[in-house]
Amino acid sequence: MTTLFAEGLRKRYGDLAALDGFDLAVPAGVISGLLGPNGAGKTTAVRAMATLIDLDGGSASVEGFDVRTQAPQVRRRIGLVGQNAAVDEILSGRQNLVMFGRLFGLTRSDARARAVRLLDMFGLTEAADRPVSTYSGGMRRRLDIAAALVLTPAVLFLDEPTTGLDPRGRNEVWDTVREAAAGGTAVLLTTQYLDEADQLASQISVMDHGRVIASDTPAALKRQVGRDRVTVTLATPEDLDRLGARLPGVRDDESRSLTFDVGVSEVVRALDELGLTAEDLVLRRPTLDEVFLTLTASSSSPSPSPSPSSSSSSKENAR
Ligand code: ATP
Repeated sequence: MTTLFAEGLRKRYGDLAALDGFDLAVPAGVISGLLGPNGAGKTTAVRAMATLIDLDGGSASVEGFDVRTQAPQVRRRIGLVGQNAAVDEILSGRQNLVMFGRLFGLTRSDARARAVRLLDMFGLTEAADRPVSTYSGGMRRRLDIAAALVLTPAVLFLDEPTTGLDPRGRNEVWDTVREAAAGGTAVLLTTQYLDEADQLASQISVMDHGRVIASDTPAALKRQVGRDRVTVTLATPEDLDRLGARLPGVRDDESRSLTFDVGVSEVVRALDELGLTAEDLVLRRPTLDEVFLTLTASSSSPSPSPSPSSSSSSKENAR
């Protein structure tokens, strides 16, 4: 069953359509990435699906419960991790988790047991009894995510979970997110880092101007935007002549290479037929950054409202 579902979501702020027909479906146990330039509407979509703002149109549900008419049932089934930590600095990691468990209605012993399990899952057992103020950025973020998982939510919303973390901290948080999904939670992740979406998400929705303009697996999106490119290095200029005559490509005499815009098998077949041996053969796949830039550059605004962000912020999103 689709755990998180949204169809035709609309939200206006004055003249601006922050959500303009937003659709999404995330099954249980799936990590879904939501990408888009600044101002595309990602935060608005997340807040609407998390029952935090009213919608002007469309419908969304969590495990079949309607976010507009059954908000209490939805709230019991979601976890939301924003960029500002929800945990208390003075308390220890364990105390924080027990406190969240109690807030969510667990008995003291259940809350304690859940805290032990979460601390273990997220590699925080050793630091469990130290005040959070002594934690690294990555540890705090992991604790924050653990706090959102106290009740094992059906849906976990993560808004830019690794912003400001170093590579090690990011990796630690990624493991946490994978753990959450492995437990059956549907995860919706917004991120500015395309490699993060590539690493974590099995499904990616690119949004612009309040709607999803492409949704697929990372690999399929890459295929959609660009083909593989193959660069072959050969021993002599004569070999380059022969291969170039058989298969048109871009020649670089300095590196004695030819680059082709065709599949690798076609290049290997041509080499075989000519009896040539490549000194080097490099396959370059399109990156998600290219997908993002291509898609958001070509999505012209259908809404009358100006969207100053799509071109300038693409840079930022692509780092
Ligand atoms: P970012 O990557 O910068 O966080 P985003 O994709 O999350 O951007 P949103 O924050 O959802 O985008 O904003 C979408 C649009 O709606 C923006 O143009 C924003 O200025 C506008 N907007 C969001 N919230 C409000 C509000 N409370 N009042 C007026 N306009 C708003």
